[in-house]
Parts: sequence; structure tokens; C-alpha cells
Amino acid sequence: MVDAKGRDLNQAWIVSIGAELALGQTVDTNAAWLAAELARLGVRTERHLTVTDDLAAIRDAVTQAADAAEIVLITGGLGPTDDDVTRQALAEAAGEPLVRYAASLEQIRAFFAARGREMIERNEIQAMFPRGAEPIENTCGTAPGIAMSLRDTPVFAMPGVPFEMKTMFKRDVAPRIKSGVSAGVILSTVLRCFGLGESDLGERIADLMKRGRNPEIGTTADLGVIGIRINATADSEPSARELLADAEAELRSRLGRHVFGRDDDTLASVVGAVLAKRGQSLSTAESCTGGLIAKLITDVAGSSAYFVGGAVTYSDEMKTSVLGVDPELLEAHGAVSEPVAEAMARGASTKFDTDYAVAVTGIAGPAGGSPDKPVGLVYLAVAEPGTATVRRLLLGADAPRHVIRQRAAMSALDLLRRRLVPNCGQKAAD
Ligand code: AMP
Ligand code: MG
Repeated sequence: MVDAKGRDLNQAWIVSIGAELALGQTVDTNAAWLAAELARLGVRTERHLTVTDDLAAIRDAVTQAADAAEIVLITGGLGPTDDDVTRQALAEAAGEPLVRYAASLEQIRAFFAARGREMIERNEIQAMFPRGAEPIENTCGTAPGIAMSLRDTPVFAMPGVPFEMKTMFKRDVAPRIKSGVSAGVILSTVLRCFGLGESDLGERIADLMKRGRNPEIGTTADLGVIGIRINATADSEPSARELLADAEAELRSRLGRHVFGRDDDTLASVVGAVLAKRGQSLSTAESCTGGLIAKLITDVAGSSAYFVGGAVTYSDEMKTSVLGVDPELLEAHGAVSEPVAEAMARGASTKFDTDYAVAVTGIAGPAGGSPDKPVGLVYLAVAEPGTATVRRLLLGADAPRHVIRQRAAMSALDLLRRRLVPNCGQKAAD
């Protein structure tokens, strides 16, 4: 065992090695995979380092990691070529020479022999280890891994090839870590919210987001959707689940109907699930979003069960000929107006014969704004049996065109969601 001192191994750094990673030519999938696996073991990853194939840089990085972390995981740079220098860097960091391990050399020879090939001299380097290190067998490649103690911290170096790394981690490294970890598991879930700004939302749950709390709660924002990630650490899975459930209930009660789903849910998938369950249908009438709403709806597999289709009616003529919008309405109020948005939604639901219809008309810019109708002015409408609802949005005169379109489309789906499920969320927090 690398860690013979019976210490807690609850916090890790991951060091990814390779020029291709540092240059951005290869995306570092190993670190993401490892961090997720570590979380399942109850180990939280504190930092990822990405280092090019440079001996001194790797030596410094692993030294820094060993000083700061309770466990260091390294991937890459164990190959036989001159640019693979992880083993040399580890030896330098430990102040030990590289020595040949006969048993590893035999394993490498056997790996080649089993494939009817002769081991070339170059591969001998892969049987060299910093003195005192322990080889980790590689069952699917030539490069053994390295387990060693560096500045009193257990360090595991694994190959960069994702398949080899994963096999080695699961087979050898994870069990070693598991036996040294005191905390049990970390479970995570993400609540998805729409309709509140990140700072407004942050204020409502500030006390829950304080550092050092368990579960740990943090937010991310993407196109108006705010994800609230909840990470619960506990000594068993049921206790972690309970912590998650309690935190989720508290968040939902504070944020009410702004919470629309969790994990992989999208506004479109949530809306679609309700329509499918009720056997109701939906159509769209889009102007400034140019079909984006229909795109988001049809991103969801199975959307044909409720979505019949939609029209992109950019010109006034199309709004009239396809949706039946009264030309006098267009004349009197302009295409970007509350009455026209409503008429588009009602027109779509009538012409396309659907229970619900969503419509958008607005000014996406950058040109075309005026003092009373600035860029970013958008009207959304939802028609449903018996009524129609219109919302006016100001999405920002300086916002880029694609942002205005995205926000308009997402807001339209959100309006539809709120019409479909008027009482979603426990409290009417809005
Ligand atoms: P190496 O072990 O450094 O020789 O890496 C072998 C190959 O594995 C590289 O050429 C990459 O294609 C791939 N690789 C190395 N590190 C990573 C990583 N962190 N994420 C994804 N792929 C990687
Ligand atoms: Mg490499």
C-alpha cells in the first residue's frame, strides 16, 4: 500500500500531462472522468493542472500537487518516446534515481510476445521507476503505471490513453484509494431554474451557498437557465441521498416555480412531458427567433407526440397569409406589438389546430430599433383553449443578436411552461 500511514484521503489534485492537452488540440477528458470517479469514492477534487511535456514543468507541478493534495492522480507521459518524461519528472521530484524493475520488464516483453511481436529497445524505459516506487500493471498496454509516495502524499501516475487509464484506475487505483478514504460518497444533483437572474437567485439562497456547508451548493448560468448544483457528502449512499433530498426541498420552497426541472431537463423537455402526458398539441409562430423555438422543441426525442409544426413568418404578408393576422392590426400597432403577438399565437393555434401555440415577435438588432421600440424589445404570446397570454420583454439594446434570439426563445418556452403548469413549485415565490 502506498499510504501506509492510515491517513484520510479525501481531497485530490489531478495532473494531466501532454503538449497536445496544453495546446488545446486534445480535450482533457481524463481529468473530468477521474474527478467524477473520485467523487463516487468520496474524494473531492480541488484542482486540475494541465502541463506540457516538459521535465521541469512536470516536476514542479507534481511537487506542488503533492504538497497541497491528499492524493495526486497523474495521467499521460508514460509512453516510450522522448516526449514522455513523467517518470523522469517523478524521479527528480522524489530525489531518487530511475532504476530498472526486472518483473515489469518481463511483463512488457510478455505483452509484446502475446501479440507476436518483439519488444523494441525503446520500450525498456517503461520498466524504469523512481527507486522505491511500485509498478501498477497495465493489462491493456505496455506502459505500467507508477504508485509512489511523494512528500508523504500518495501519487498514482497512469497512462494517457483513456481506455488504458480507465482500466488501470478501476482495477488498481480506485481500490487503493477506497481503503484510505474516510468519507463515504459524494452524490450530486442539479436543479434547473429559469426566470430569475443569477444574482437575484443567489440572494434568495445565499445562506445555503456558504462555503463549508454540506451539502455544498453552487450555481452556474447558461442562456438564462441557472443550474443549482448540490453536492452531498456522507458516509453512506442513503445518508447522502437524504441530504440531497432535504436541500432540494428547501431550494424548491424558496424558488417556487422558477425551478423547472433537474439534471438533464430542459425547458423544452419539461414542456413536452406535460403536453405528452395530457395528450395536448402545440404549434409555433415565430418572427425574430426564425424557427429557434421549433428547433428547441424538436431537440427533444419523441416531440412528434405533441408538436405538429410551426411557421416562420418574418414579413407582415406572411403573418397575414399564413397565420391570418389582420392587416389593420399590423398597420395600427406594427409587427412588434402586443396585439400582433397575440394574433400570431391565436392564428397558429387555429390554423394548425393545436391546443397550445407559442408566438414571438421582436427586434433582434443590431439595427431596426427606435426610441419607443428599442433593440431587444420582444413580445411573447401563448394561446391556449379559451385565452391568450402576452409578455413584453426588454432583452437589452446592447445585447448581441444571437443572445436576444436565444433569450426570446427560452423565455417563450418558459411562458408556455408557466401557462401549462400554473402551480408548479410549492410556493408562488414569484
Ligand atoms: P501519453 O500516455 O501521454 O503518451 O498519451 C497517449 C495518448 O492518450 C495521447 O496521444 C492522447 O491522444 C491521449 N491522452 C493523453 N492524455 C489525455 C487526457 N488527459 N485526456 C484525453 N486523452 C488523453
Ligand atoms: Mg503524451
